[in-house]
Amino acid sequence: MSGMLDVFSEHGVPQGDIDKARLYQTRHGGRLDQILVNMGSLPSEDLPAIYSKWFGVPVLSAADWRDWQVPEGSDALPMEFLLEHGWLPWEQNEEAWVFASCAPFDLEVNAWLAEHAPQPGLRLLTPDDFDTLKSRFGVATAAAQVDGLTLVEEDRLRELALEAPTVNLLNSLIAKALRRGASDMHIEPHSGRARVRFRIDGVLHDADSIPAAMVLPVITRLKILSAMDIAERRRPQDGKIELRIGGEEVDIRVSALPLRDGGESAVLRFLRKDALIYDMSLLGLAPDIEASILEDLAVTSGVILMTGPTGSGKTTSLYTFLSHINSPEVKIITLEDPVEYQLAGINQVQVQPEIGFDFARGLRSIVRQDPDILMVGEIRDQETASVAMQSALTGHLVFSTVHTNDAPSAFTRLLDLGVEEYLLNAALRSIVAQRLVRRLCECSVVHPESDRLIERYKMQALAKNSELSKPELRQSAGCDECGQTGFRGRLAIIEYLRCDDAIAAMDKGEGFIAAAREYRRSIGGRSLLEDGFLKALSGETTVEEVLRVAG
Ligand SMILES: [Zn+2]
Repeated sequence: MSGMLDVFSEHGVPQGDIDKARLYQTRHGGRLDQILVNMGSLPSEDLPAIYSKWFGVPVLSAADWRDWQVPEGSDALPMEFLLEHGWLPWEQNEEAWVFASCAPFDLEVNAWLAEHAPQPGLRLLTPDDFDTLKSRFGVATAAAQVDGLTLVEEDRLRELALEAPTVNLLNSLIAKALRRGASDMHIEPHSGRARVRFRIDGVLHDADSIPAAMVLPVITRLKILSAMDIAERRRPQDGKIELRIGGEEVDIRVSALPLRDGGESAVLRFLRKDALIYDMSLLGLAPDIEASILEDLAVTSGVILMTGPTGSGKTTSLYTFLSHINSPEVKIITLEDPVEYQLAGINQVQVQPEIGFDFARGLRSIVRQDPDILMVGEIRDQETASVAMQSALTGHLVFSTVHTNDAPSAFTRLLDLGVEEYLLNAALRSIVAQRLVRRLCECSVVHPESDRLIERYKMQALAKNSELSKPELRQSAGCDECGQTGFRGRLAIIEYLRCDDAIAAMDKGEGFIAAAREYRRSIGGRSLLEDGFLKALSGETTVEEVLRVAG
């Protein structure tokens, strides 16, 4: 087939791909053209032109076949077999049949021809045109009859999903996602191909694309690995894959969602077991805030509250705090919904509201287990809040979260839930409001308008009060290390409020939030925006990032 190889390379298929495909063919068999299509080296639409060059016969155009009719005598041929394999009788001339095909290399048909119709003529059709003409035969083929997948198709899909090109493509996409530190990979059908995007540090990036011929095999492989039904293409499905890639254990949650046009979108969420290191230094806290939090972690009773919207990294911070104080001398119990990560040496309990085991009930139970430190996933109701406060007053250190935008609002939110003010004044130790910003990669450069931005966002006082030797704003550039995004990892920006005697003494009426902010400022504390600007002035993130999450 050396002539065929020339046709491929003349068609622009890289020699490296052809070599790989030939190697694959030697080892596993199969057809070179199909292997190249499966590898994504060649769009399947290009095949008719390549065949045409190889066989020296034309590809029939719409003008050729528009008025074409099924030739007489074709019912004497095994029509179901031929149509199934991409062949149809085009015309019968005096000597022999002339066939039209979109798959001229089909081995079974060629074997049949050798025996029953020697010296046939050949014309070529694109797969789409072939399908159009096929319907003119009125032969019900297995594939056309059933809604959904036939067994033949399902077997074929299963085969494709196990073939090396599919396995290699999916593996390389997952490895690339992990290498770039992605939390999620999105595979979305997009004009025939599939677009692959990675979520890195909370933001989606275009990462790759899957050639049309490989989309279904890749999605099918994902379904097989995550124990989904591969024939089900109308309902959403969920599954899980456990993988070892490059020595790292990864759990992948897979979700498949059918789209209106018949395609399917798949999202993979990576839960990296080995990558979870809950170390205070990784949170990227400003030194004064880290010192205050370390003080809080050293006490034995009181409530430490985290606030922030979903995705603000509250759980990671709480786990970090718990890991910091975790030791053989203390008993830690957490109550979570759901338990996302296993923490060594910590008793984690999953609440199950559907059987009445909610946060309030769970909290009452775990207090009887003689813990020193408690973590309650979220305070959403008066009962949970009150039990948490009472536990703190009876000698427990309690961590929890509430959904508010800033620190002072968490105090009023608990009052609104109906918790007694005296209980809050006595039990609350501190409130930590948090957001995550992306951390600039080392390739960042000085922002050309640093001075102007510092003035515009009134950062002069922050810059002056900070201990930074040279406060200066930087902007993202991009290098291989950060996959050209300019960012690597995230860091927390924090509004920290110590609930001290002054806060306890304040009137909790309408003016409380403003008064608490004013007090925080007077003792040198910062708002989320100010803490973010401080991180921008120290070159750890950009002003745009800070404004994006705290503006
Ligand atoms: Zn970089």
